Amino acid sequence: MKLSEKIKKIAPSATLEITSKAKALRASGEDVVILAAGEPDFDTPQIIKDAALKALDSGYTKYTPAAGSVSLKKAICQKLKKDNGLEYSPNEVIVSNGAKHSIYNILQVLCSDGDEVLIIPPFWLSYPEMVKLAGATPVKLSMRKDNFFKVDPNDLERAITSKTRVLILNSPSNPTGVIYDKDELKAIAEICVKNKIMIISDEIYEKIIFDGNEHFSIAEVSPEAKEATIVINGVSKSHSMTGWRIGYAAGDKDVIKLASTLQSHATSGPCSISQVAAECAILSDLEDVMDKNRETFQQRRDVLIEGFSGEDKIKPFKPLGAFYLFCDISKCGVDSMTFSKDLLEEKNVAVIPGGPFGDDSAVRISFATDIETIQMGIDRIKEWVKKF
Ligand code: PMP
Ligand code: GLU
Repeated sequence: MKLSEKIKKIAPSATLEITSKAKALRASGEDVVILAAGEPDFDTPQIIKDAALKALDSGYTKYTPAAGSVSLKKAICQKLKKDNGLEYSPNEVIVSNGAKHSIYNILQVLCSDGDEVLIIPPFWLSYPEMVKLAGATPVKLSMRKDNFFKVDPNDLERAITSKTRVLILNSPSNPTGVIYDKDELKAIAEICVKNKIMIISDEIYEKIIFDGNEHFSIAEVSPEAKEATIVINGVSKSHSMTGWRIGYAAGDKDVIKLASTLQSHATSGPCSISQVAAECAILSDLEDVMDKNRETFQQRRDVLIEGFSGEDKIKPFKPLGAFYLFCDISKCGVDSMTFSKDLLEEKNVAVIPGGPFGDDSAVRISFATDIETIQMGIDRIKEWVKKF
């Protein structure tokens, strides 16, 4: 059978694959510690579920406009104004089936065959694959372990060619939890604006930030930066709504219009009931819930940092946001896939290899699970790495 050469070149999502493999092992009766999940373990707040139930009962069960319902888009505009100081109108917003789908759509619209898209390693593993699906080439910048994994503006400037169309920025970052401050964002924005490069700013972990740090959107730093930026966000991580599949993009109205055309043929509008739920999530005052979740994540992070302190075979990088611990395993002398595979087989602990994130000397440990599981994971991993 002749199948698409383009799709054959795409790697399946290791995060989704390993998580489901570990869950299947657990379902078969194995005592598996799963530190792989890319989703909050908290349930969706009841008020949001109630809004969805009400939508169902009142027959809100039909197609919505392809780019999302106008009332949800208005709510998103309010959120972007309130939280980020960014002014958008509904025709500058598209609602999609998760932030992943928003990024996919925007890349399809911004890229043509042969274009280049700059990615900062370690990166969320879907970025390079989505770039390839858009016919463009992912260009991975130098990894700056010496700069807390943040992009060096000189590296950025050097990597720009006549084919560069887009930079993907992710703050707080998956997998390192790095966050960029305003001055750093300003320096990046200036380079992009000067070179007419669009910025896709993935802010999905905006609400999960530790130690009193603050989130800034690169679109906030200047009017020119706002024009060059497509902001990506959603309710998956902020409101524990990963399964509802609602994300959005905001930016230039021509880009959004083309993304809407694409979406109108690919998927139509996202689930009508999920849209009502997302509108409730965005418009309700749920700061208390989000604060509590943030505190819980921070406590778990601290347990992990403390648990691995003094270890040299598994050295964590302290995240300031998101819910992942990126750990250096270079002293173990194996690649990240071997490490993760053997750890799962020999100790029943699931972590994600760093290779697909652009760093084969690291693994990603998720702390989107309870403290007892985390503690069990720490104990098993510490015991296991002694063999190296
Ligand atoms: N961006 C990053 C960095 C992520 O880790 C995820 C995780 N799923 C997403 C986007 C997509 O989120 P979703 O599609 O669930 O809204
Ligand atoms: N983004 C999450 C992760 O990195 C969820 C899985 C996925 O969508 O890739 O684990």
